[in-house]
Amino acid sequence: MDDSSAAPHGIDPTQPHPARRYNYWLGGKDNFAADRASGDELEKHFPKVRLGALANRALLQRATGFLAAEAGIRQFLDIGTGLPTADNTHQVAQRLAPDSRVVYVDNDPLVMVHARALLNSSPEGRTSYIEADLNDPEAILKHPVLADTLDLTQPVGLMLIAVLHFLHGAGAAQPIVRRLLDALPPGSYLVATHATSDFGSPEQQALYQQLVQTGRSDVWTRPYDEFAALFEGLDLVEPGVVPASEWRPEPGSEIPPRTDINLWTAVGRKP
Ligand code: SAH
Repeated sequence: MDDSSAAPHGIDPTQPHPARRYNYWLGGKDNFAADRASGDELEKHFPKVRLGALANRALLQRATGFLAAEAGIRQFLDIGTGLPTADNTHQVAQRLAPDSRVVYVDNDPLVMVHARALLNSSPEGRTSYIEADLNDPEAILKHPVLADTLDLTQPVGLMLIAVLHFLHGAGAAQPIVRRLLDALPPGSYLVATHATSDFGSPEQQALYQQLVQTGRSDVWTRPYDEFAALFEGLDLVEPGVVPASEWRPEPGSEIPPRTDINLWTAVGRKP
């Protein structure tokens, strides 16, 4: 994106932002110089970070496909949507089940600007967009657009893909996930991916801590136990808590080493 053009209202192109940096790593054009600089800085220390972004996106598509095709889910709440790219949640779901309804939520005003691309629903289904913050689950749950699009007496697929690691602090994600799940009926699913330092060498882990402490990374990694605890009370879908690229990989596909991907993943069903 050309930084010299007037930025849309509420958007500060001088501050790196996760949606735009992720868009840069995925090869998109909806990002500013500050996002690219932040992406390059992280890539300098973690050269496989683009592979991680691609693996995460592929997981989103496989998990959405699982929910639509195998679990019979027809309603999705996708929080931390990201900038529209190929095969967004509603496109994957509606290809398999055209009547799928999707509510997208993100707190980046630039995602709102591009939301039109998320709202090209199939005629049988429906998509809508809410600008809100995951830190305030109540605002999401009470939003009239949510009630307009989703029937909360019927199962919902709650997609928290590569977003929980923006909730900083040990234990910070759990109450928010809990609150959202409490609002959903039995038969609902939670899909989550989360950055982790578990697979790094002690040197990489120390370096990463330094990047976070000095504000050069805004991704708060969590260890296995804390990620797995988000699924307490849910029935884990096979193969359980695994690195993103090891969750039901496409048959015959090459699975990158977990040290390249650095993301935990799981899918759980609310009994
Ligand atoms: N889920 C998509 C995009 C992940 S990028 C995918 O996996 O492909 C992370 C997204 O989360 C960005 O769009 C960012 O703007 C959004 N995000 C980060 N913190 C957030 C918060 N507190 N509330 C809502 N969205 C948030």
